[in-house]
Amino acid sequence: MPELPEVEIVVRQLRPRLCGRIIRHVEVCDPKIKLTGQLVGDRIKKIHRRAKFIIFDLTGHRHLLIHLRMTGWFEFVRPERYRLAIHAGKSAAYFTDSRRFGTVELLSTRELTCKLTKLGPEPFQFDGHRLQQTTRPIKVALLDQSLIAGIGNIYASESLWRARINPQRPSRRLRPAEWRRLQRSLVAALRKGISYGPRIFDVQEFFAYDRTGKPCRRCRTPIRRIVLAQRATFFCPHCQH
Ligand SMILES: [Zn+2]
Repeated sequence: MPELPEVEIVVRQLRPRLCGRIIRHVEVCDPKIKLTGQLVGDRIKKIHRRAKFIIFDLTGHRHLLIHLRMTGWFEFVRPERYRLAIHAGKSAAYFTDSRRFGTVELLSTRELTCKLTKLGPEPFQFDGHRLQQTTRPIKVALLDQSLIAGIGNIYASESLWRARINPQRPSRRLRPAEWRRLQRSLVAALRKGISYGPRIFDVQEFFAYDRTGKPCRRCRTPIRRIVLAQRATFFCPHCQH
């Protein structure tokens, strides 16, 4: 499931192909996608990311807001199946999404602001303040998009492993030194994810995520899998306190 790094990778692929171009054709191949207006003739002024959202700023104070959800992705060579295609200038971007949970909406600036206002800060501008207010386990708090935005199951487990923090620890009990470690670890885990580029799903390697029973890469203790708030959670019982 795409998290902040995967979304950032997609944005970095979309930008050079579509940014500054005029939309000349839009194919909507899935009736689940309902665009509330005409896009043809609009210029794509900017493509950017907020949390796990992809945002196209268009002329006329309108915005395309895209969320990849479970299986959404963008291809640039026409695939066999896709839900939406945006043709702009000489380029085309094809929105593929086998599970069809991804969303594409056309919004006014006010509607966009309203949607994004509930999101917590980006992890790169880490602000542990909101996280420190909750007694929930730190792993669960990291997934709450209103406390910190863009983190999902993979990067929560990976950053806690890097920071040597047990995912079950109540968020409010973390010490200042642990918050600093967590901040550095989040940024490092996300940057590593982004550095894989478009082939991330084929080449990505993890420290804790999905490594149940395999030796911890620090201390060789088998990685344990537990369930926290209905989500699989992976950690080293020896070196994450
Ligand atoms: Zn370990």
